[in-house]
Amino acid sequence: MKTYTIKDFNKQFPTEDACLELLKNIRFPSGIYCPKCQKITTHYRIVNRKTYCCEFCNHTVSPTAGTIFHKSKTSLRSWFHAIFLMCTTKTGISAKQLQRETGVTYKTAWRMFNQTRKLMSENVNPLSGQVEVDETYIGGKRRGKRGRGALGKTVVMGMVERKGNAIAQVVPNVRAMTLLPMIERRIARENKTIVFTDELPSYNQVERLGYAHQIVQHSAKQYVSGIAHVNTVESLWSNIKRGIDGVNHSVSPLYLQSYLDSYVYRYNHRKDETPMFLNLLGRVSTLKQAVRP
Ligand SMILES: [Zn+2]
Repeated sequence: MKTYTIKDFNKQFPTEDACLELLKNIRFPSGIYCPKCQKITTHYRIVNRKTYCCEFCNHTVSPTAGTIFHKSKTSLRSWFHAIFLMCTTKTGISAKQLQRETGVTYKTAWRMFNQTRKLMSENVNPLSGQVEVDETYIGGKRRGKRGRGALGKTVVMGMVERKGNAIAQVVPNVRAMTLLPMIERRIARENKTIVFTDELPSYNQVERLGYAHQIVQHSAKQYVSGIAHVNTVESLWSNIKRGIDGVNHSVSPLYLQSYLDSYVYRYNHRKDETPMFLNLLGRVSTLKQAVRP
């Protein structure tokens, strides 16, 4: 991926107007259609307002309408800066750090923090090829054993396509009736697909679902046996846990899925040609405005 630095950011977005102009181009890539003139017309910026007006009539549009920026009193530049900060670090950034870096109030930083994570939540196409499946426990105070004693912890199921995309999903438990439907939904049943898991009994029926299935025996201290390992998904877990412990300290179960989405987003876009920041800005139209706190 091309690196996009704060220098690039300051050069591309020196002013509030530059941010609005980009937003207009993202939302109306082939020009603004005027319903009154019934064609695409040039729309000029109205001074001191976040709106553009048709060159022939009084039709106006606001590029922020229907986005996370709608009716926000925070400058677009602060928003863009927050989005930039949230996708330039591998382990993420906390709302507190966001407040410090952008100079907004904590309440605003918290809002930008949550909204930007929502932008990072995307649907991943079904995984195929060599796919590692594993679960982990996140949060809570006690170190818990699998399936038992994991009090206050949330179970997260992970599926990672080697050299490809990842999925991480909060699940209620590690029972077969929970994990198997997830596999069926998120992993393509193709000839070349092989599912790798450890020896958790819940995965016993994976082959019966129509997948090639290879098991790594962790209890026999067998961590890598040929291509049968779950090291890729385990490194995703350590990345997420490092982020949550080190940056965010702890995460309420209520927000955990959204945190997972942000880590997975960064993971899935790690090799993109387009800088992650610009990719994320391109998604602003996909998310409806949220209710203001
Ligand atoms: Zn018009």
